[in-house]
Amino acid sequence: MKAQYKVLGKLKRLDEKLYRVQLELEKIPEEIKKLEAKLNEHKNEFALHKANFETNEKALRKAELDLKEKEDFIKKAESKMMECKTNEEYQAAQKEIDGFKTEKSKLEEIVLTSMNGIEGHRNNLKAAETKFKDQEAVVNREKKEYEEVRQKLLRSYEEQGAQKDGIVAQLSPDVATTYRKAFAATKGVAICLADNSSCVGCNMKVRPQLFNEILGAKAIHRCPSCGRILITASSEIDENPGADVQI
Ligand SMILES: [Zn+2]
Repeated sequence: MKAQYKVLGKLKRLDEKLYRVQLELEKIPEEIKKLEAKLNEHKNEFALHKANFETNEKALRKAELDLKEKEDFIKKAESKMMECKTNEEYQAAQKEIDGFKTEKSKLEEIVLTSMNGIEGHRNNLKAAETKFKDQEAVVNREKKEYEEVRQKLLRSYEEQGAQKDGIVAQLSPDVATTYRKAFAATKGVAICLADNSSCVGCNMKVRPQLFNEILGAKAIHRCPSCGRILITASSEIDENPGADVQI
């Protein structure tokens, strides 16, 4: 049984490595999501400035058209004045022209203010666009880097998985069954140390008789609380440290 404990010791180290790789792999989509959320903020800001600019530009075009229309009215009214036959008609036409002129100067004011304002909106839009494009380039680069890391981790996971298969094959059928059950129950690291009559994985005390059997490598036991296979630190000593695939 002592030899089986040594195999379990190797398996524990490998499972721990595989688990770390698994956690690293799980982190990547979360990191990518964070990057995309940040990029989305810049995209929304850009869209907002774009809408703002377009609204203001539309308002300016409308004010320019209104102004042009008012100028045409004035021209027409002025030419009509020539045809006035009476003083009353003349005064009425003059009044109409004065009204148009007042409206015209108001529109000129609007066009001028709008033209000044639109420059600011155009600059804001340009700045937001640059910020978004820059951020997009950064995010694309970082995503590519994450993909490279992911591929590396997957390769490492595969290599160590194959190594693990070789180690599991060294377990006796009974112990292999116990290990598989423990692995399915714990999802990740299915073997942990028993120290000072406690399971290191869940900190629960184990019965003295059970602990003695583990200590003496008499039988294989799972922690009654968390279901991990319990081994002692001496089983973990690596007699062939160069054999493991490094990550
Ligand atoms: Zn436990």
